[in-house]
Amino acid sequence: MELLEKLKDLFPKNTISKVELEGCEIVVYTRNLEFFKNSEETIRNAVTTLKKRIELRIEKDLLPSETEVQQKINELIPAEAEITKIYFEPERSVVIIASKKPGLVIGKGGETFRKLKKEILWSPKIERVPSLKSEIVESIRKMMHSELKFRKKFLNKVGEKIFLSKPIERNWIRIIGLGGFSQVGRSCLLLETPKSKVLLDCGINVGGKNNEVYPILNTKEFDLNEIDAVIISHAHLDHCGFLPYLYEHGYDGPTYMTVPTLDLFALLALDYIDVMQKSVNFPLYTAKGVKEAIKHTISLEYGEVSDITNDIRLTFQNAGHILGSALIHLNIGEGLHNILYALDQKFGKTYLLDPAFIDFQRVETLIIEATYGSKKDVMPPRHEVEKQFMQIVNETMQRNGIVLIPSFSVERAQEVMAILVENNFDYPVFLDGMIWDANGIFSAYPEYLSKSMQRKIFKGEDPFLNPLFKRIASKQDREKAWESRPCVIISTSGMLMGGPVLEHLKKLAEDENNTLIFVGYQAEGTMGRRIQKGWREIPFEENGKTITLNLKMRVETVEGLSGHSDRRQLLAFIGKLKAKPNKVIVMHGESKKVQEFSKTVERVFRIESVAPKNLEAIRLK
Ligand code: ZN
Repeated sequence: MELLEKLKDLFPKNTISKVELEGCEIVVYTRNLEFFKNSEETIRNAVTTLKKRIELRIEKDLLPSETEVQQKINELIPAEAEITKIYFEPERSVVIIASKKPGLVIGKGGETFRKLKKEILWSPKIERVPSLKSEIVESIRKMMHSELKFRKKFLNKVGEKIFLSKPIERNWIRIIGLGGFSQVGRSCLLLETPKSKVLLDCGINVGGKNNEVYPILNTKEFDLNEIDAVIISHAHLDHCGFLPYLYEHGYDGPTYMTVPTLDLFALLALDYIDVMQKSVNFPLYTAKGVKEAIKHTISLEYGEVSDITNDIRLTFQNAGHILGSALIHLNIGEGLHNILYALDQKFGKTYLLDPAFIDFQRVETLIIEATYGSKKDVMPPRHEVEKQFMQIVNETMQRNGIVLIPSFSVERAQEVMAILVENNFDYPVFLDGMIWDANGIFSAYPEYLSKSMQRKIFKGEDPFLNPLFKRIASKQDREKAWESRPCVIISTSGMLMGGPVLEHLKKLAEDENNTLIFVGYQAEGTMGRRIQKGWREIPFEENGKTITLNLKMRVETVEGLSGHSDRRQLLAFIGKLKAKPNKVIVMHGESKKVQEFSKTVERVFRIESVAPKNLEAIRLK
């Protein structure tokens, strides 16, 4: 095999005992301890030459015992690192160190970590223990640690598919929209390259009806058995909500996403199953599908260039949209064509996240959203938005009222929390629904937050640990919140489609001292959108009967807290991209908006731009 021959040439004679292909990595095993300790240069050189991820490990039988390693770790790592657990994976010569302060395990400039590696000979990996206890983070990690045998076999199988050379099957590169084209919801795109077929996102349309809920998979271009990989940009259900279905229907290949996306995906997908079971709709999948998806996920960090098929190299970069959200850069056929999938994204700074990454070396085709792509979609500057929001909140506090904020559990809720903290708000803030669970996931991945937020957290000013916030976990807690006026309640779901927010709305709607504040996108067909449009008599199901509620509370929409780029930010993103694309494909927006934005791109940048519909195919090469 050509690649392995080249690899062997780059290593000193007789240093390699075995090579294993493990997911996106080539793992080289050695029996030569001296070489292992002084191998940095060789590895660096091999990585640059082959442009592959390579890791060197010691053969299992030469590794020191687990007790010895445990002792060494305790000697070398300061107690302040607060190591809570050490897991061993002898099959891969890997040891996982769970620590509350991973920075102290790594040490200045990585020194402690390098020293550790030489002393223990096992390959150390670090896992951050979240500062806020999170059941979902714990159970996913537990599952991964208990599925060692499965994971090893699975990663080897994936690795062989990636690295063993494969014949060319077609001489084109094209994309076919299976969902999310000229619409918002059920994002799903099929990419065909000469040697592979991958899916970018696999979402559901929460507000959709019947077979418009999920992507169009009954087209002859799509065959589940031919899919080499699925790539998920971020954890919103309209991008990942249909993934478990694929695994329940026979897909057994890898899915790529960032680690925070994996945790958030699990949280949201499991909750969605609950929602499906409560509503009349037939559940599309069960918890088994979610579990399979987790087991088959390979997580990558921002900037980690990885081969994911025989002719596609994937790099995730910060998208600025939600925790762990990624712009997807695909280098196809060693530079033959480069695609940047830039949705969902925000090219503007928020408290929690830095703006979307723009320093891509090469981009020929840019795929971009137009959720806020029309001329009307220009949002006021962020500081004004914040001022307006705080004013509405404070006015309600002065009236002794309650502010109800329907919110997604992920991101918007945390951003609103950060705004309240930054503005020294000091009335109680109640969090209902899964917001608290999502907070736990946020606290597990501070390195995915903005630089300024990271500095705050390391100084001990973690907004998620602020005593201002109180968790609602029961009916009694809910009643307590209503008695604590004035106060703020942030609750799911974000578009008033189910969830505890409806309980709050029922209780608070008829009091004009209260305020309902929309802080996020309200999709067509949702109750949120109808109320925004002026609907004031709201039917509710109660004990099988329909009651009508008169909405007398103040209704406000604060535009500009969105996790999406507005029109100006989208244009700025394209304009500032380091590499200028020669084709732009606009999706993820209402039909009129994608058309309008696509025309604007052509006019402003003189780049060919299209806004296709679902099922249209576009050839890129
Ligand atoms: Zn999103």
